[in-house]
Amino acid sequence: MTDPAKPDPPKPATPEADAPRRCPICGKPAEVRWRPFCSKRCADIDLNRWLSGAYAVPVVEDDETPQEEGGEG
Ligand SMILES: [Zn+2]
Repeated sequence: MTDPAKPDPPKPATPEADAPRRCPICGKPAEVRWRPFCSKRCADIDLNRWLSGAYAVPVVEDDETPQEEGGEG
């Protein structure tokens, strides 16, 4: 009596091995192509935010040191 070699059951692939990052914009799993975003749309949104933010930043430099009026002498 010879038992035929039992084929090992296929191990379930571990999808979490490559834990996909979440899109910081909408929270969907990020796509490799648009990392770290899930789509070009979200990538654009982020870029827009960054750009608008960068351009919207008012250039106001408040100097702590007050200007002294009226010099000596
Ligand atoms: Zn997204």
